[in-house]
Amino acid sequence: MAEQVKIGEPPIPVNIKRSARARRYSLRISSKDGAISLTMPKYAALGEAMRFAHEQEGWMRKHLSKQLNPIALTVGGSVLFDGEYRRIEQGTGRAVRFEGGAFMVPGKTDETAAKLRAYFQTMARERMVAASIHYADRLERPIGRVTLRDTRSRWGSCTSDGNLMYSWRLIMAPREVQAYVAAHEVCHLIEMNHSDAYWALVASIFPDYKARRGWLKNNGSILHRYLF
Ligand SMILES: [Zn+2]
Repeated sequence: MAEQVKIGEPPIPVNIKRSARARRYSLRISSKDGAISLTMPKYAALGEAMRFAHEQEGWMRKHLSKQLNPIALTVGGSVLFDGEYRRIEQGTGRAVRFEGGAFMVPGKTDETAAKLRAYFQTMARERMVAASIHYADRLERPIGRVTLRDTRSRWGSCTSDGNLMYSWRLIMAPREVQAYVAAHEVCHLIEMNHSDAYWALVASIFPDYKARRGWLKNNGSILHRYLF
């Protein structure tokens, strides 16, 4: 059972992780559930870690508020798409259209989120299928079925029989990030692990993967704030 300390008021729970490899204190906020962990040198004093956590209280609160506030999708608001904030406006006709840098969403206002969701899911499917085929071709491997879901714990997965799954919320991430996730999963067609050989394979078809992976780590939680 991990040690936990509480910082400030209202208290922020911080899980303490003692690590033999850690040389200094570091804080991390999980993009999945907002849990905060503080890694500290194994034999350092807990009081030091508490002091460090108190110093970072402002930073933690800033990030937590960013992360956990849900965002409603309404006409007059905005939404992320391909890594850019786009306005949501009242549309006409039946279909959602992207025009002049804005999403034109027809129908009643209580249908705005559902209509955008359907549009985003369709776009995500097209994008992720195309990217999967592109990178699978580079590896000369066939892919199986591609499924889009609304997952919280992972952005994608790959089964041993070559079926791929992606979060459709990736359509909100920059295109390069979407491409990275496809390349990442497709490489599991060859290496079903995250070994050095696996990452070398990723680098061979997607050299800039570290930056894209970093984007997801730092910003992935934003994609989950939207209430579709
Ligand atoms: Zn993986």
